Amino acid sequence: MRKPIIAANWKLHKTVAETGAFLNAFLPEVTGIDDVEIVIAPPYTALLSATGKLSGTNVTLAAQNVFYEERGAYTGEISPAMIKDLGCAYAIIGHSERRQYFGETDETVNKRIKAALGHGLKVIFCIGETLEQREAGRTNKVLKGQLDGGLTDIPIDDIVVAYEPVWAIGTGVTATTGQAQEAHAFIRGVLQKKYGDKAQGVRILYGGSVKPDNVDDIMACPDVDGALVGGASLEPDSFAKLVKFRRSQK
Ligand code: PEP
Repeated sequence: MRKPIIAANWKLHKTVAETGAFLNAFLPEVTGIDDVEIVIAPPYTALLSATGKLSGTNVTLAAQNVFYEERGAYTGEISPAMIKDLGCAYAIIGHSERRQYFGETDETVNKRIKAALGHGLKVIFCIGETLEQREAGRTNKVLKGQLDGGLTDIPIDDIVVAYEPVWAIGTGVTATTGQAQEAHAFIRGVLQKKYGDKAQGVRILYGGSVKPDNVDDIMACPDVDGALVGGASLEPDSFAKLVKFRRSQK
């Protein structure tokens, strides 16, 4: 049985005050929900204030990224120990925006994952194809390459995979349930070859324009174990609706 995860990726949004206001409105909405893991990834600057508010709640804190070195002359970077210190249980690693705008590669993603796991963090490892790659019929090849590269010499136990087709992120275009299920089943198949039956326990999240009005359909796909959500996670009401997706279908 894979416990679903609904995760918020706030990207470059929300000050400390805005984070506090969100949590004040959101937390009462989800009190007592224990059949879904609820994860929120604010910007680094709001982690400390968020951790105080989340203590003793059913909501878990994540960082949106983490560097692989522990310390040193790496201006602007944040180490796994630092985000752990702020109460993060998860780090999102390999998001397509990191790959697209900040030069992340499968190799650096792999290093970040190793460092995060080494410090007892769990990882939401993002993969996904561009529109051009999909239209060229290369989706599976790209996903397999990202899985192989990102997961080299890495045990699967504390990894959550997020399938995020780049063409669906922030565009309002969601993958059809057929496209999502096909990709998720393919990813699970690749993991099965790498890790054997442990693959059956790996949570694979879908990300890409998930909203309250499409979450039920997405979550009904047998290999979709949750959602990583950008835009629709920024409002407490909208994110609470996602957390309350229709359960009967799972
Ligand atoms: C994301 O950034 O991970 C994401 C899926 O964004 P959005 O929900 O806005 O498409």
